[in-house]
Amino acid sequence: MSESTVVSNLPQLDGETAVSRSAVVPQELVDRYACGPVGFSGSADALYDRHLFHDNVVGEESVNARLQYEAVARTVRDVLSQRWVRTEQTYQRENAKRVYYLSMEFLMGRALGNNIRNLQLDSVAGEVFKSKNIDWTNILEEEPDAGLGNGGLGRLAACFLDSMATLQLPAMGYGLRYEYGIFKQSIDNGWQVERPDNWLRYNDPWEVARPDEAIEVKLNCSFHMEDGRLKVLSNEPSTLIAIPYDRPIVGYGGTTVNTLRLWAAAAPDYFDFHRFSKGEFIAALADSLAAETITRVLYPDDSTMRGEALRFFQQYLLVAASLGDLVRRFRAANDDWHAFPDKAAIQLNDTHPTLSVPELMRILLDDARLGWDEAWDITQRTLAYTNHTLLPEALEKWPLEWFEMLIPRHLEIIYEINRRFLDSVRERFPGDEARVTRMSLVEEGSTRKIRMANLAIVGSHSTNGVAAIHSELLRTKTVRDFHDMLPERFNNKTNGVTQRRWLLLCNPALSAVITDAIGDRWITDLSELRKLTPLADDAEFRSRVRGAKRGAKASFAAWLRTTQGVVVNPDTIFDSVVKRIHEYKRQLLDALRIIVLYNRLRENPDLEMQPRTFFFAGKAAPAYALAKLIIKLVNNISAVIDNDLVVRGRLKVLFLPDYRVSLAERLIPATEVSNQISTAGYEASGTGNMKFMMNGALTIGTRDGATIEMAEESGEENFFLFGLTADQVADNRGWYNPQWHYENEPETRAALDLIFSDHFSANEPGIFEPLRKTLLTGGDFYMHLADLTSYIEADQRLLKLYADPDAWTRMAILNIAGSGKFSSDRTIAEYAAEIWDAKPCPVR
Ligand SMILES: *Cc1c(COP(=O)(O)O)cnc(C)c1O
Repeated sequence: MSESTVVSNLPQLDGETAVSRSAVVPQELVDRYACGPVGFSGSADALYDRHLFHDNVVGEESVNARLQYEAVARTVRDVLSQRWVRTEQTYQRENAKRVYYLSMEFLMGRALGNNIRNLQLDSVAGEVFKSKNIDWTNILEEEPDAGLGNGGLGRLAACFLDSMATLQLPAMGYGLRYEYGIFKQSIDNGWQVERPDNWLRYNDPWEVARPDEAIEVKLNCSFHMEDGRLKVLSNEPSTLIAIPYDRPIVGYGGTTVNTLRLWAAAAPDYFDFHRFSKGEFIAALADSLAAETITRVLYPDDSTMRGEALRFFQQYLLVAASLGDLVRRFRAANDDWHAFPDKAAIQLNDTHPTLSVPELMRILLDDARLGWDEAWDITQRTLAYTNHTLLPEALEKWPLEWFEMLIPRHLEIIYEINRRFLDSVRERFPGDEARVTRMSLVEEGSTRKIRMANLAIVGSHSTNGVAAIHSELLRTKTVRDFHDMLPERFNNKTNGVTQRRWLLLCNPALSAVITDAIGDRWITDLSELRKLTPLADDAEFRSRVRGAKRGAKASFAAWLRTTQGVVVNPDTIFDSVVKRIHEYKRQLLDALRIIVLYNRLRENPDLEMQPRTFFFAGKAAPAYALAKLIIKLVNNISAVIDNDLVVRGRLKVLFLPDYRVSLAERLIPATEVSNQISTAGYEASGTGNMKFMMNGALTIGTRDGATIEMAEESGEENFFLFGLTADQVADNRGWYNPQWHYENEPETRAALDLIFSDHFSANEPGIFEPLRKTLLTGGDFYMHLADLTSYIEADQRLLKLYADPDAWTRMAILNIAGSGKFSSDRTIAEYAAEIWDAKPCPVR
């Protein structure tokens, strides 16, 4: 690490050359690169030129920032490409046990800065930029976020890939290559507007298409387009082609380069042969568009399951292509099917890839011709399932008729699994038919459905939650019947985030302060941060940490001004709530807090109150009307406060559009107060909470998800915890009455009255009326009003501490020092040891 303090989130230019840093840039990499047709040492810029002018066939006059970005990225890819090949060769040679992480979402964000950093090519890149006179800031901005996910679940998958590569695990991610990722959000008159995210409009320099490794996926129906809509013809068997597109996942230090393999759906060349011969040549080819529709777009719903058949097709495509691919790889090196669980561990990221259970059974029964018991044993030992939510509306259930139409053989297998499983339930709990009904894989009713969570638990050897409280609630509430019967299958794996992206890359100033104090081992062993604990009492260290935070605030303010023309004052407290917009996450509670503070200032303009800036960011599912109304409310509060002379300059509210990884990377280092205020018992883990903690923000929050464990690590006295506990929320359900709070708490009442009096909607009277139902007459399911008073109290304690900068910074340091547990390296090491039985396989 460089000793200098750098305040932009760019690779550091420290003047050293790659060769002189061979201790960190693997010499063998440099050597191999120099062996190619173009020299490496000292002339990466020659390679850059070749990519810039030759790949695109352009002259100097056509060069723009986008082309420069592509050429830089391709140059970086050249450096890693042979290492990438070597990684796969090593795994093959060693016949290592592989870990396959199946996920419908990978919220990767940008790759260029991360890859340069993980390859430790900062100085080489610096040389190129200098000699080519490239504006690095502009280049980075040319890369679109790879937004193939909604939020926490997809970002977790991305952090896991980084950790698995850094820990040198023989791992691979499998997902879908959506042509359109999570929608782009803009704000029009305060309302969310969605626009398509055409992230592949230009050549993506990272991906490598491998059509020769395509997988055929057989279906019992066929598709065609009718009036622009996808139509399904049942009982007309057809084949889809899944084409893999590989992306490199560079482990820190560049020794291991793993693969994220994303599948794109396509029609086979012989698509609808039959119609060709009937003379419908053009029509048949036009219908091949229908096949490609399947991976066109990511579903933008977070925490809600929408029963759309296309989504079901997507899930089956992911499962069939990935299992087809990994079984082929297994067969190339092994001839005994019984070795399968010793050579492959498949992790299901939520229930989305649960069709893996019947698909693997089908392969073992029909292709390998094993008996049922053998096939079932292999399937269970190979698969493991991660649950991500306790919300009932998020639990997946798919109509039986879709199985019948698309994959009837799988339905047959599910029935047989269910028959055997329910027999064992009856044997264990004789006469308890209610239990049998609850545990069945099939939900009876007007439309019969398959319960995917039940299938995932029954068909795997491990079910884990993602934070201690979440795993506990799973065991004792959500799937209690399954825990009664199969307790040994349940375990906890508290989530984590990669400190390479979420500290080293996004916060170079704080990273340099930390490294100067304790060395750089924290980059691959975050528990090293404990060494910062005694430094909380070191005035010099405190002042450096404060300086880093101040620098990050100033950079963020400057970025806001230049990119969006918005002015914020870095001398105010930066307070953030950034995450998907959802009632259980309670952005509304934050809005009420701000209105209470606003009312206090209106009532008493001389009141002393530190000036604050409140940042909100997050996307609402396009069909989630109330979440969209919450965005509108925040924007209207923002506008009203800006126009109010009494509070202007003391309170400022800002809704930042289009929350995404690259925005989080800028905002989190600049934040001082992290709000984690979900109704206790509803946030499975949270990972945003961890990112803020390691960047020195203090948390004001409820005892929910991983926030509980964060407070354990740093000490509850260093957190601003408030509100009902999960137990209290559950106990209060029966009698909780929001009306009581309205009638008995003057500030709560005044805040609500202000909203309902159209104070924030003078030109749009009545638009916030639906909130009356949410918060009052409808029972306030997420108990905003129950927690508002204690939220305000915690907020006052926080403000008091902020007035003492030494005490504040001391606490921030104790938070950073306690954040070591929340590295995804720790999480992945636990999965590897306790679920996968996977070992590192160093590349040679
Ligand atoms: C970390 C992250 C999330 C998850 O945030 P939570 O607060 O845990 O819900 C969502 N979106 C993005 C872009 C993230 O980086």
